Parts: sequence; structure tokens; C-alpha cells
Amino acid sequence: MAEPGVAPRAGAAGSPRIAIVGAGPVGLSVALQLRQLGSQAELRLFDAQPHAGAATADPRVLALSEGSRQLLQALGAWPADAATAIRSIHVSQHAAGLASLPRVMLRAQDSGLAALGYTVRYGELLLALQGAARAAGIDVRYGTPVRVQPGDASARLLADGDGSGDAQPVPQDFDLAVLAEGGAFHDQRQRELHRDYAQTALIGHLRCDRAHDGLAVERFTEHGPVALLPRGADYALVWCVPPQQAQDVLRGEPAQALQALQRLLPACCGRALELRLFGSYPLGLNARVRARQGRTVQLGNAAQTLHPVAGQGLNLGLRDSATLARLLAGVPESGLDAALRRYELARAPDRVALLGLTDLLARAFTWGAPPAAALRAGALAALSAAAPLRRALQRRMVFGWRG
Ligand SMILES: Cc1cc2nc3c(=O)[nH]c(=O)nc-3n(C[C@H](O)[C@H](O)[C@H](O)COP(=O)(O)OP(=O)(O)OC[C@H]3O[C@@H](n4cnc5c(N)ncnc54)[C@H](O)[C@@H]3O)c2cc1C
Repeated sequence: MAEPGVAPRAGAAGSPRIAIVGAGPVGLSVALQLRQLGSQAELRLFDAQPHAGAATADPRVLALSEGSRQLLQALGAWPADAATAIRSIHVSQHAAGLASLPRVMLRAQDSGLAALGYTVRYGELLLALQGAARAAGIDVRYGTPVRVQPGDASARLLADGDGSGDAQPVPQDFDLAVLAEGGAFHDQRQRELHRDYAQTALIGHLRCDRAHDGLAVERFTEHGPVALLPRGADYALVWCVPPQQAQDVLRGEPAQALQALQRLLPACCGRALELRLFGSYPLGLNARVRARQGRTVQLGNAAQTLHPVAGQGLNLGLRDSATLARLLAGVPESGLDAALRRYELARAPDRVALLGLTDLLARAFTWGAPPAAALRAGALAALSAAAPLRRALQRRMVFGWRG
């Protein structure tokens, strides 16, 4: 690992010097893929966390698509023992007083896949990626929050924050800065595309009396979506509610919360027996229109933070990382600008599609007017009846939208 304040040694002749800001799942994934593709670039990774273990206790359970599993497996960073397969997804809406409403079942077998996706805890995934990075000889400098001054031919890294970290870098110039500093909606600065959904995601663990058999549930309610993700023998819960209700639930009696949740769930889950809540996240959309500025490129949550409905944020970020690594590998410093232009073009369809889709899903089911309820029911019924449309949607949720 380089000493603080020492400028990075030059890469192989003509190879760029690249700084990756943020060693979360997306930043580590870029670094690993660049190395795997044989890139000779000089890589430096910086992370604000005080040490590698600081974020591994993050209790968020993520649904990762089969496409993400394949990517992580190829990097030697798939935590197979910690993953639970999602074999089918039940999508429906809850409407008080209406007993029979259309539902959509997405099944892995309809796409010829063993699973539509998998659930892993954020911390378990991070540990797997950190292990793969160590094995590949990739160092991360922790305790180094940095900010970047973008330039046309280089990017300058400066120490961020109060300077109390133990390895603050002095200003350094790199040929390229890859911003993967992620974050969640509530701790990010506002970007060009910004919407506060006035929803808070309560995350937790739910035990029901019926075995899930790989079933995930996406239930749209008038206050926000509720997702149950198979996790071991039980479910991981993401329950989106208005902020005040989230506070009431967190402060109130667990038995009351369990009852309220039970009323929202479809019958296929059985009876809810035990609920444990771990925390909450305010939800919103916060995205940049452009993914690059001069010699600075953003990806993952640094480029777009989405509503977790449909569980797409990290899946999208991992696809960002795969495209960026593919376009940068083998490119000399003189070819960086063209590679970044290609990156922005290549990622636009996937980014735009998921920004639009998650924004629509996060809001459309909360619209209260009667025609809206009929339209929603009609859309679900159409999707349920049209097998080719369902399969096409399924494939795109697993492998992304390609231009
Ligand atoms: C409740 C909830 C449920 C979710 N469910 C899903 C799901 O089911 N499926 C899915 O795909 N996605 C899901 N997501 C989204 C997913 O968590 C994010 O998309 C993902 O974590 C983004 O990864 P990242 O590497 O871009 O950023 P992060 O995970 O935020 O990592 C960023 C890293 O950068 C570091 N950093 C930050 N600032 C600096 C700085 N100035 N200098 C140096 N380092 C810095 C941080 O310490 C961190 O290590 C969910 C999100 C929430 C809130």
C-alpha cells in the first residue's frame, strides 16, 4: 500500500493512472474486473470507512439478479453459502375492500433459469468482494474520504471532511477518477434528477407459518410497496410507509406492527408469526443526467440512487461497472476520452429505463383516484395474461436493458 502523500508510481508505459473513490460493491467490482481483463492501469482505491470491516455489519438484504450472480461469480466474489435463491416472484396490489385483484407470477423456469435471482446481505457481499480484491492484490486505503476536482485532462483528488482520518491523501492528480462513493438518498447532495417519495423503507426479518420455497413477494399498497425476499427459511422485509408511520411503527408495539403488516400481505405468505425490524431508510430518486464530467465518471449509486422497489439499484451499478471495465481495459491514457464517451452512450438505455420504471412503480400504486386503481388492475391483468411480455420484462430485470 502506498504511504500517505506519496504520488502514485507511473503505470506501465502509456497506461492510465486511475483513482477509484469508494470501495463499496461497485468500486470493488470495477477494480476486480479491470485486473481480470488484464488492465495495466495504475489503480488506487480510497474509502471513507475507517477500516474494511466497518460496513460489513450492514443489515440490508439485497435481491441480486441472476446476471449479477454470474458477474460476481466470475470475479470469485459470489458468497454462495450466504445466498438464498429466488425462484418465483408474486406481484400484486393490496386494495382494502377488494378481495379479488389480478396478480402476476414471474417464474425462473419460464426463462429457462434455475433462479431469477438471489438474496444476500450487503455485508456478506462486501466481505466476498474484499476477499477477492485481496486475493487479486488490490489494496484499499480506508479512512480516506476524498473529493474530486474534475478537469479536462486529469482529475485532482483532495482530502474531504475534517482531516481526522489516519491516511489523508495530499492532493494527487490522476488520469481518471471513477466515482463510486454511493450512499443512500438521505445522505447525498441533491442532483439534477431529484424526487423525494415521502416514503421510508423499514427493513427487517419476517417469519411466516408457510415455507416460502423460493417465493419473493412484491405487494403494492396505497402507502408504498412491501417486499418479502426469501432469506434462509424466512423472509427479509422491505416495508415502505410514510415517514411518520415509520416512526410510529419503530416506536410502537411489535405485535401491532405484525398485525398491520399481516393485513397487507397476500394469502400465499401464510400467517405472519414474528417480525424483527432492524432500521429504516428515507427513499427518493437522486440521479445525474450525465455519467461523466471531463476525466471523472460516476457509476452505481454515485450516478443514480433509486427507490428499492423491484430491487434494482445494485444490479444496475454492477452492470455500470462491467461496461466501464470492459471499455477501459487495455485503453492507454490517450484513449480515455473516447472510452468515456462510449461508456456514457452504452449505459444510457439501462439507466433511463430503470430510472423511469422504478419512479413509476414507486408512485403509481399510491395514486388514490378511482381510475388509477382500475388502470393498475388492468396493467397487472394484461401482464398476467401476456406470457411473451412477461418473459421479456423478466429477462430485462435479470440482464438489464441494452442499447
Ligand atoms: C432499503 C434498501 C434496499 C435495497 N435493496 C436492493 C436490492 O434488493 N437490490 C439491489 O440491487 N439494490 C438494492 N438497494 C440499493 C443498493 O444498496 C445500492 O444500489 C448499492 O449499495 C450501491 O452500491 P455502491 O457501491 O454504488 O455504493 P455504496 O454501497 O454506498 O458504497 C459506497 C462506498 O463509498 C465510500 N465512500 C463514500 N463517500 C466517500 C468519499 N468521499 N471518499 C471515499 N469513499 C467514500 C463508502 O464508505 C462506501 O464504502 C437497496 C437500497 C436500500 C436503501
